Amino acid sequence: MADCLFCKIIAGEIPSTKVYENDAVYAFRDINPMAPTHVLIVPKTHVASVDEINADNSASVACIFEVIPKIAAAEGLANGYRVITNCGADGCQSVKHLHFHLLGGKKLSEKLD
Ligand code: AMP
Ligand code: ZN
Repeated sequence: MADCLFCKIIAGEIPSTKVYENDAVYAFRDINPMAPTHVLIVPKTHVASVDEINADNSASVACIFEVIPKIAAAEGLANGYRVITNCGADGCQSVKHLHFHLLGGKKLSEKLD
């Protein structure tokens, strides 16, 4: 999708630090990490947010959740981690391409809001 930051990263038009890739999923390090491990996992096909998940694209979301434990293991997150997705204005979503934050490597805050 034109003018989508994460579509450009997936296409290699904007550099990123790749962590994992398969046919449906791309994962890369967040440019502004909030924890020792902060990886973004995205579907390669543009989906704007959780609000746009449907029967036509949910297989890529399922694939993301199959990939997350593999990345967590590779990152050494045996003690646990957090997966977050922000949706829309109240969710403070800044990039309008569905992405899941994988955070770990330290004891995370109990607060979610
Ligand atoms: P959200 O606020 O949930 O939409 O998260 C967007 C995330 O994308 C933020 O954590 C940013 O730090 C991250 N981000 C923005 N631009 C880049 C980039 N070029 N490479 C990697 N991560 C980025
Ligand atoms: Zn996109």
